[in-house]
Amino acid sequence: MIKSINPYTGETIKKYRQDTKSILNKKLKRAEKQYKVWRTHSLSSRAKFVRAIGQVLRENTDKYAAMITQEMGKPISQAKAEVEKCAWVCDYYADNAAEALQNEVIETDAYKSLVRYDPLGIILGVMPWNYPFWQVFRFAIPTLMAGNTVLLKHASNVMGCAELIEEAFNEAGFPEGCYQNLVISSKKVNSILKDDRVKAVSLTGSKPAGSAVASKASELIKPSVLELGGSNALVVFEDANLEETVKTCVQARFQNTGQSCIAGKRLLVQESVYLEFVEKFITQVRELKSGNPQDEDTFIGVMAREDLAEELEKQLEDSLTKGARLILGGKRRKTYFEPTVVIDVHKKARIFEEETFGPVMGITPFKTDLEAIDLVNRSKFGLGVSIFTEDYERAEALIGQFDDGAVFVNELVKSDPRLPFGGTKESGYGRELGTFGIKEFVNAKTVYFK
Ligand code: NDP
Repeated sequence: MIKSINPYTGETIKKYRQDTKSILNKKLKRAEKQYKVWRTHSLSSRAKFVRAIGQVLRENTDKYAAMITQEMGKPISQAKAEVEKCAWVCDYYADNAAEALQNEVIETDAYKSLVRYDPLGIILGVMPWNYPFWQVFRFAIPTLMAGNTVLLKHASNVMGCAELIEEAFNEAGFPEGCYQNLVISSKKVNSILKDDRVKAVSLTGSKPAGSAVASKASELIKPSVLELGGSNALVVFEDANLEETVKTCVQARFQNTGQSCIAGKRLLVQESVYLEFVEKFITQVRELKSGNPQDEDTFIGVMAREDLAEELEKQLEDSLTKGARLILGGKRRKTYFEPTVVIDVHKKARIFEEETFGPVMGITPFKTDLEAIDLVNRSKFGLGVSIFTEDYERAEALIGQFDDGAVFVNELVKSDPRLPFGGTKESGYGRELGTFGIKEFVNAKTVYFK
């Protein structure tokens, strides 16, 4: 049985019986059978279903958001925004997939030569709990629009969301077998991946999970996309607009109660504005409203599981032993973690070196642009970096020197259906979203007419 527990109340919401071997086999069969039909649908036909599910999401936002909030403690207003964003990704691909996947004619000595983008087959998604709807839609919609079918193994603590997502696909009228939810623990992922009918895998989650799944996939010579953790830096230069920058940095760290791969986790501030910035930053963090995630005005909810909160506490303690100074928060009660700010964080501290998945911000001063670049790049992660400066020429000169998959200027790193999303180094490989995302699970087929 897989248990879904409300992290705010500690109550068990529901227990889910795992799919047996024979159920899994039926699901695989259905996915394979449907793939042979779905791949022949025109892009405009697929777009109709995708548009329809966008509509289903909009009509049932409250129901889906309530489940997100119950299962992983996200404040309800942020849960609703998540569902709305999923509808956006549906609209985006319904409108743009045909153009992204159109044949690319290449002039050669042939009468005609081109590349076309055909689907691969059944694609397995292994998804996390932190954005339990968004992570799934971001993967599944482009994958389906490209003509593949999808099997989804969701995180064990959000099985209610997983069930509702499958229901939404059915309600939108998707043909049977296009999208199916697998009720399995992580131990069973390999057996699905090993099945010949499954052609590729996409995983969003931690490094150990990514590494386990990607090693299996590579042993089987199956492509994988990995979207793993991050420890994004927010770099505040002395010429930044401090009022605006503080607001953005608070949002970047504390939305979703800090549990986002692209959250700004290391705040680097130029020495000449360090004290002024820290003061403004704490003032705003102090105003963040913690409370019952079901309340509309709550901004900081609870963390999704107590083990995650305990781990964050250990990371914080380590930073204090390495010289950081706690200036706000720091206390934990079960899954609730106070919004916390520590300053003078050393680059050897765990909260600097590792991913912190919760409401803790570490601030580190720097002197020069070169030092800032070095601090940003010394992370083993490479999802994204935000830089704050009024001087766009300075920004342009810096962008090429960062290792990350994204650089945002005067803005927090965010995902947008129109832009590719993904990392470098231990943040994974491959890209989701945009035209890059829809081309991850396709056969770029070369065609040559003599
Ligand atoms: P995991 O990476 O363990 O879980 C993510 C998904 O992978 C879940 O569906 C999980 O299933 C599955 N999974 C885990 N291990 C394996 C495995 N060996 N083989 C196949 N599938 C596997 O995340 P946690 O919930 O444990 O979070 C731990 C840390 O990971 C966080 O603190 C954070 O640092 C990072 N993380 C990053 C995310 C991101 O957006 N990049 C999202 C979530 C976490 P199951 O739930 O059944 O174990």
